[in-house]
Amino acid sequence: MQLYTKILIGLISGIVVGAGSNLLGLDSIVALLTALEPLGTAFIRALTMIVIPLVVASLVVGSSSLGDIRKLGRIGGKTLGYYMVTTALAVTLGLVLSNLIKPGAGVDPATRDSLSAQFQGQAEGNMEIAAQAPPIKDVLLNIIPRNPIESAATFDILPLIFFAVIFGAALSVLPEEKKDPVIKLFGGINEASMVIIGWIMVTAPYAVFALIASITAQFGLDLLRSLMIYGLVVVGGLAIHGFITVGLMVRFAAKLKPIMFFKRISGVPLFAFSTSSSNATLPVTMSTAQNQLGISKEVSSFVLPLGATINMDGTALYQAVAVMFIAQIYGFQMDLSAQLTVVLTATLASIGTAGVPGAGVIMLIAILQTVGLGDRVASGIALILGIDRILDMLRTVVNVAGDLSCAAFVARSEGEQLDPDVVI
Ligand code: ASP
Repeated sequence: MQLYTKILIGLISGIVVGAGSNLLGLDSIVALLTALEPLGTAFIRALTMIVIPLVVASLVVGSSSLGDIRKLGRIGGKTLGYYMVTTALAVTLGLVLSNLIKPGAGVDPATRDSLSAQFQGQAEGNMEIAAQAPPIKDVLLNIIPRNPIESAATFDILPLIFFAVIFGAALSVLPEEKKDPVIKLFGGINEASMVIIGWIMVTAPYAVFALIASITAQFGLDLLRSLMIYGLVVVGGLAIHGFITVGLMVRFAAKLKPIMFFKRISGVPLFAFSTSSSNATLPVTMSTAQNQLGISKEVSSFVLPLGATINMDGTALYQAVAVMFIAQIYGFQMDLSAQLTVVLTATLASIGTAGVPGAGVIMLIAILQTVGLGDRVASGIALILGIDRILDMLRTVVNVAGDLSCAAFVARSEGEQLDPDVVI
């Protein structure tokens, strides 16, 4: 049986066993499944462990072979442009859906207040984290690392990308006998990282089962019911963006067959969904881009780590719906200019959102503050936290699909020959 089929079985049986035991009130099984969580955490840690060596090594090798700095600038410009445009489209879609469906309009105030009270503590914790987030000016300045080793040690990917690209570009201008051994060294690190990923993958079906079963076993169904419309708007928006917007971009910008594209990348969502982390999924995203689509190492090693860090279409869409939901539930008017502010702040906030579980909700706090919902932040966030994990899983899927479509677009626009079955 293929690995991805096994992982899918792990995922589905995790949902059935976890949600089933919760629904049937089988407390001892719920406790048992909850106790499996460390297995899943070990898997996420193992995947995350390989991200720094993989990103640095593949970026150094990739940018050293890109040749001239102008090509690098061109690829960088296309990548950023693509990421910003698709994120803005996602936010706009979220706003349009929330204006049409008004998910917050029907919730009665008593349900609202009891939900809020239930998650108040967790919401306050998130607010403390958000208060430590630097302003956008510093986020941009921090892209230049003071010490790349520190960036690696603190998992600060953006400055690390910056350094690795510059370093690789510098290598490319050295004479052969100087650059060859260094490139070989990083090439070797890259290959070894890929081997480690293969080893980690062997455990994936069991780890995915543990992750999903332990989450769904703790999932209260009542909560789901009261937040259903809000959740459905987010899920519907994610589906529209993930299939239609990304599909159209794949068809018309990358000029690939959308169905083939989705087929080829179909293993990646399993990981994004179970780990809720673009970063932890990155090793899988990169090998899929190279092995399933035929995208070069140069392009994929630049576009994908950058995407895992700054491109969050799904998160931005979810933030737009969440802001509107909280505003509607508290009777706060969101006029056109407030909604445009959401488009701008959510698009920029995605740059500062780390690709880790729950990061989107923290940046949401900043957006709520910007649009004038500052005094509703704690209760508003508390309101939606109950179903945030499941939405996080789904938005992460859309985030990584967007990254892969960008890699395909950049590769094609640079004249790369991708897999002939996928190309139009
Ligand atoms: N978990 C998301 C990601 O890693 C970020 C978020 O929306 O919280 O892409």
